[in-house]
Amino acid sequence: MIPIFDSKRQYQEIGSDIEKAVCEVLRSGAYILGPNTKALEQELAEYTQSKYAIALNSGTDALHLALRALDIGAGDEVITTAFTFVATTEAIGIVNAKPVFVDIDPDTFNIDPAKIEAAITPKTKAIIPVHLYGQPCDMDAIMDIAKRHDLYVIEDACQAMGATYKGRKVGSIGDIGCFSFYPTKNLGGMGDGGLITTNAEHLKDRIIALRNHGGAIRYHHDEIGVNSRLDEIQSAILRVKLPHLDSWNKKRRERAAIYNELFAGCEDIITPKELDDTYCIYHQYTVKIPNRDEIFDKMHEAGIGTMLYYPIPLHLQKVHEYLGVGRGSLPHTEKNTDIVMSLPMFPELTREEQEFIANTLIKLVEEAKALA
Ligand SMILES: *Cc1c(COP(=O)(O)O)cnc(C)c1O
Repeated sequence: MIPIFDSKRQYQEIGSDIEKAVCEVLRSGAYILGPNTKALEQELAEYTQSKYAIALNSGTDALHLALRALDIGAGDEVITTAFTFVATTEAIGIVNAKPVFVDIDPDTFNIDPAKIEAAITPKTKAIIPVHLYGQPCDMDAIMDIAKRHDLYVIEDACQAMGATYKGRKVGSIGDIGCFSFYPTKNLGGMGDGGLITTNAEHLKDRIIALRNHGGAIRYHHDEIGVNSRLDEIQSAILRVKLPHLDSWNKKRRERAAIYNELFAGCEDIITPKELDDTYCIYHQYTVKIPNRDEIFDKMHEAGIGTMLYYPIPLHLQKVHEYLGVGRGSLPHTEKNTDIVMSLPMFPELTREEQEFIANTLIKLVEEAKALA
């Protein structure tokens, strides 16, 4: 079986360093908001080209606390995409604001900036672009709209740590960047974790307070906060992994190029496109194919762990039924949901495995075509 992501192979490479770092934390007696979290925040601020980085419990908390810090709540609208993981809109729901969906650009799978302005109302407070699969959104266009309409931009960069847009790290372009350290992300912990980045000191201060029961000074509480601290063990693990991230992202890009080359002769398999002047870090390598559902099952029978990200677009999820955004409202989102398939993608994937995956997929696509 070739999995979609193989955390065990990565562990073989760096496991002894991780065990050493974890044992040091265990012996130190400092388990929460200690020296590793502090150092990790500094290292990640530098890595993400942001002034401040605040470590949290999850990417979902990063999104939710970003909205809280910007005072977005009941009665407000937030523009985003329905072609993403549910955490993006869940965060909007947690603060009692309303998600407003805009269709995607089918070439990049990301929110189509050309359609954003039509969705803006007097209640709109922010845009949450999602750099899906590690592919940067068209940030110039989004920032321009935000500026003209006085809206905040919260980047959901949970799948995109290390990706760049015109030389700038994603997550550092909008008002706030949100990241996840879920184990399968490009920089993944061994448990849950997340991060907010920002250049604004007042937002940094507010988020630091919100993550620790709503107060900057211990036992002084100014507002209702949460417990969303990243623990020292996760921080120590992430500090071991961070120096490897650029080389892992580069290896993902090399593997994406190999897939592109292997599929070049098969016109029915549409390979991912990259925007000009961006550095996509291939959290996922996602192709578009006809007869996807039938082929998906057969890939699994052949021992290939392909995945569907995501099988149901968010506007058609039960949780969003109340919005009344029915089928047919977001044609590109709906069409692409039915034809995308993500293939195994991780830095340790071998050329032989990629050839087997590509040959299997090409054969299945051709067989399905011959029967049609
Ligand atoms: C993973 C992910 C999240 C949530 O991160 P968690 O750490 O799992 O809470 C949010 N948005 C996107 C696009 C993600 O991929």
